[in-house]
Amino acid sequence: MKVRAAVAYEGQPELSIEDLEIGDPGPDDILVRIVACGLCHTDVKALAGGMGVPKPVVLGHEGAGIVERVGERVTGINPGDHVVLTYDSCGACRACAGGDPAYCAQTAALNFADGRFGEPGTFTRGSERIHGHFFGQSSFANYAIAKPRNAVVVTKDAPLEILGVLGCGVQTGAGAVMNALQPEPGSSIAIFGVGPVGLSAVLGAVIRGCSQIIAVDVLPQRLEIAKKLGATHAVLAGRDMNSASAIRRNFPGGANYALDTTGRPEAGQHAIAALAPKGCFGFVTIPTGGLQINMQTVFLQGLSVRGIVQGDSVPHVFIPYLIDLFIAGRFPFDRFLTRYNFSQINQAIADQAAGKAVKPVFGMAD
Ligand SMILES: [Zn+2]
Ligand SMILES: [Zn+2]
Repeated sequence: MKVRAAVAYEGQPELSIEDLEIGDPGPDDILVRIVACGLCHTDVKALAGGMGVPKPVVLGHEGAGIVERVGERVTGINPGDHVVLTYDSCGACRACAGGDPAYCAQTAALNFADGRFGEPGTFTRGSERIHGHFFGQSSFANYAIAKPRNAVVVTKDAPLEILGVLGCGVQTGAGAVMNALQPEPGSSIAIFGVGPVGLSAVLGAVIRGCSQIIAVDVLPQRLEIAKKLGATHAVLAGRDMNSASAIRRNFPGGANYALDTTGRPEAGQHAIAALAPKGCFGFVTIPTGGLQINMQTVFLQGLSVRGIVQGDSVPHVFIPYLIDLFIAGRFPFDRFLTRYNFSQINQAIADQAAGKAVKPVFGMAD
């Protein structure tokens, strides 16, 4: 069938919106009409040539839509269901069997390397094959083929056009706090970088009952949003993110928890330096250029260091929970979204890079 999709080509800095063909879903697949899709930093990284993603490719991994068709072996999902698509996992390895799909042994093949190239979900344009299955979905398109494993059925009481962001960026930030770090009520947490992931972490820290939530960023306008969403303190960092001393001025004993969402090594170093004894440092993305950690400090202060993929989220449990919190008014992630039409996708990428939009979401029907 015909689809309209944004294609990333080797050496081209912008996405190209084109008409492609996508194969019918296989017996274990579902066909989803994408209603809207969020823009995540990993899309931008892959567009720039990172993550080992083969090109040409259709990116997009925060799709939300309506199930149009299901393969004959699919159970538990029906046409008409509203679904949020999320990262893919195999369901069979030790991590998946143990309830930790974010640490699946097949993560790279299923999410980045198009391990299902040639199967349904691969796109074609004439005789040319175009890679798909990015995060098991490739949802920068008006249709996507996914599997029940990475499609979460959600309530029709929530606005589907904004829910896609829960599938990656928002669950990464909120889950890092709520599932992984699990700060105690009354504790303090410093969150480095309050883009969409960091703001989601702020919301998660509010849910957990943290008394002090310290937002750190280089952009004053993002700190303002963080304060509106529940941050109790804001630290404007210089380009070197030298903020540990600023945090310690307010909290001489240090923070109980620190989370880095930036991947900048200096942010990680300041996050660790801002910790109280027995504090825990979490990070949600690979530090660019490496992060040197002083293990003597880790030892003498009794610190913990925790890498956190996808917020440790079990999507079929965590995403419906976040939606319940949103409906109850306790998780207002909609406040940092900016709506665009799909045709404005390159503008949205530029706006996010320039700090004009925190988290773009594209409506496919627009
Ligand atoms: Zn697995
Ligand atoms: Zn993402």
